[in-house]
Amino acid sequence: MSCTIKKRQSVLRNLFCFAVVSLIIMLTVGCERKAEAKQTLVVATEATFPPYEFYRGNEIVGIDMDILREIARRNNLHFQIEDMSFDSLITAVQTGKVDLVASGLTVSPDRARQVAFTRSYANARQVVIVPENSPITGREDLRHYRLGVQHGSTGDMYVSEHIGEAERFTNGALAVAAMNAGKLDAVVLDNAPAENHVAGNKGLKILPEPLVEEEYAMAVSKSRPELLEMLNKSLAELEADGTLARITEAYMKDNKPENTAEAHGAWARLKENFHTNFIKNDRWTYLVKGFCVTIEISAAAAVMGILLGFLIGVIRSTADQTGKLRFLNALCRLYLTVVRGTPVVVQLLIIYFVIFGSVDISKVLVAIVAFGLNSAAYVAEIVRSGIMSVDPGQMEAGRSLGLGYGTTMRNVILPQAFKNVLPALGNEFIVLLKETSICGYIALQDLTKGGDIIRSQTYDAFLPLLAVALVYLSLVVLLSHLLKKLEIRLKKNER
Ligand code: GLN
Repeated sequence: MSCTIKKRQSVLRNLFCFAVVSLIIMLTVGCERKAEAKQTLVVATEATFPPYEFYRGNEIVGIDMDILREIARRNNLHFQIEDMSFDSLITAVQTGKVDLVASGLTVSPDRARQVAFTRSYANARQVVIVPENSPITGREDLRHYRLGVQHGSTGDMYVSEHIGEAERFTNGALAVAAMNAGKLDAVVLDNAPAENHVAGNKGLKILPEPLVEEEYAMAVSKSRPELLEMLNKSLAELEADGTLARITEAYMKDNKPENTAEAHGAWARLKENFHTNFIKNDRWTYLVKGFCVTIEISAAAAVMGILLGFLIGVIRSTADQTGKLRFLNALCRLYLTVVRGTPVVVQLLIIYFVIFGSVDISKVLVAIVAFGLNSAAYVAEIVRSGIMSVDPGQMEAGRSLGLGYGTTMRNVILPQAFKNVLPALGNEFIVLLKETSICGYIALQDLTKGGDIIRSQTYDAFLPLLAVALVYLSLVVLLSHLLKKLEIRLKKNER
């Protein structure tokens, strides 16, 4: 019996040391990344808005990005781009997460109440994209059909105010893809990306009559008048010396996206689609890059979840069994109630925008903390149930041998509890791994976001989603296999 316990203890000790060391390494890597990025102008954008911002390879390019590059060059600054969901852009600038928004952003009175706009640098229109054979001819017909818009855009606001209900997508490209799949009858979007999408998709057209005229400007926090002044001055110079017009023209004529399958026959089409989605422009690299981010966040969060979860689980069960640690137990219960009572995406956003709102911290680190804290709550309950499942006689036996409560817990109860809860813990890791797919909300390019970028470029939902699903599935299968091995090893040690 003592030999078994020793073996189990040594497995646990090794796991524990490995966990602590990996957590420290991962957190350090996360911190260092941010340190490199200091002293730069951080710009938020939503990079599926060609020709203003879009991915070319792994780089974000477009009219807005070239304007920024020019402004940065003339003012001797660096700039760093954060690609995030469109509806997070204004919050990001308000909370100080970024210095400015450059994202084909329309000036509107509602937005002007929250952020300061620079002078305008482009004119735009909200237009309607429909299939070529659509019965829709103008604004009046729209209310009878299924409309798609980009969530939080001025197109979204216009439709809600003047037309009626619409389906909201995270970006215009996904709405167009939904229309291609027959799920929508029309998409309301800004004219420049609309022209781009129509050029990239067979059988679509733009209705001649625009819904509303708009102007684009950059946005900064109202508390940064010096930045606003610098941007206004630079934009005025770029306009006066013709640079603005030159950049805009170059993109307007240069940027025609490629279409997906032209080939005939299912097999030939699949081959061509595969080429377009993964090989062309090295798009597979979005998935590889995303895969690394997903692994880094999941692994570090799992380690953090285990360490913290074990601690909370032990506190809770000690309180249950001995009536001690009342205050700590109450704190832990509060923590569990809050974490388990709110969605993880809300926690992630609160941690990013509110708790670390004004702290200059790497997003990878924010995600690790958010998922780690979340996972700890579930691990804690798993551990508690594991401890409770160990026969109370074990504790009594340990105590009657003269061992203290802590020693008995550490050397007798916890090793047995760990073995009992391993399947449930494994399940928690699997959930955690898949949960990290919401990282895109804070502009992290994880595996899911990598697939989203491909979808927004190729308008093909099937292959990118299938690829992403297959990668997650393989990871889960591998993880389950490793856990099974660990379980078998622990069982062998028992004999
Ligand atoms: N111009 C629109 C808006 O500001 C859409 C911009 C975008 O999608 N990047 O709401």
